[in-house]
Amino acid sequence: MPELPEVETTVRGLRQVLEGQRLTHVEARRADLRWPFPVDLRQRMQGATVTSLGRRAKYGLIHTDRGDTMVFHLGMSGRWRIDPDEIGKHGHLVVETAGGSQLVLDDPRRFGSVDLVRTDAVDLYRGFVRMGPEPLDDHFTAPVLAKALEGRAAPIKALLLDQRIVAGLGNIYVCEALNMAGIAPGRAGGQIATARLDRLVVAIKEVLAAAIEAGGSTLRDYARPDGELGYFFKQWRVYGREGEDCACGAVVQRRVDGGRSTFYCAKCQR
Ligand code: ZN
Repeated sequence: MPELPEVETTVRGLRQVLEGQRLTHVEARRADLRWPFPVDLRQRMQGATVTSLGRRAKYGLIHTDRGDTMVFHLGMSGRWRIDPDEIGKHGHLVVETAGGSQLVLDDPRRFGSVDLVRTDAVDLYRGFVRMGPEPLDDHFTAPVLAKALEGRAAPIKALLLDQRIVAGLGNIYVCEALNMAGIAPGRAGGQIATARLDRLVVAIKEVLAAAIEAGGSTLRDYARPDGELGYFFKQWRVYGREGEDCACGAVVQRRVDGGRSTFYCAKCQR
């Protein structure tokens, strides 16, 4: 499942082939993903020039010179492919550029989405209203996090997954950051000292930045041989490593609540 770093890496890969390019062909090959494609998607995107690309949480943003922004979410199984050998039956959106690139949004399980909003109203997009700060932004600091956690008795892990507190963090990165910061996932969010929140904020930024860096820095790095963007193997500290050694030498444990696994170390996370 694509997390924030995969989306960031995907956006960086798309930027190399889309930025400054006029879109010569835009075609939704079915009516919907998680919900319908905008009925005027082709009308508004085809012939437009992409001015820039961006990301908000796990959403990719493609801005055009017509004042429109295409907002895409990769859902559970979405991925963009550049110049694939064939479009394939799961290639639900095809975009071609004047520069000769073909981009295909592939989404077998169709939990992804594509929407169009006016660029000057992108903050009002339903996914972004009430969304917390971007974890990699300079605005996301320990005092900001402390304020958001104030008085909260819920476990810190659940609070970090709450998009209103911090945007775009998924299960893997929350497990990793909590281990790096030495904080137990079940600790009440409102009861963590500021110095420890400092470490947590640093850990969140580090774990995300390292994953993005693993995604490469050139198009050749971003796109795998089959043209697929965004997915790279990463070595986790605790995630998926139940029974193996934590960096401290103790054994990584797994707990399941609400169908979601938490990987942690009972020795160095307090
Ligand atoms: Zn440990």
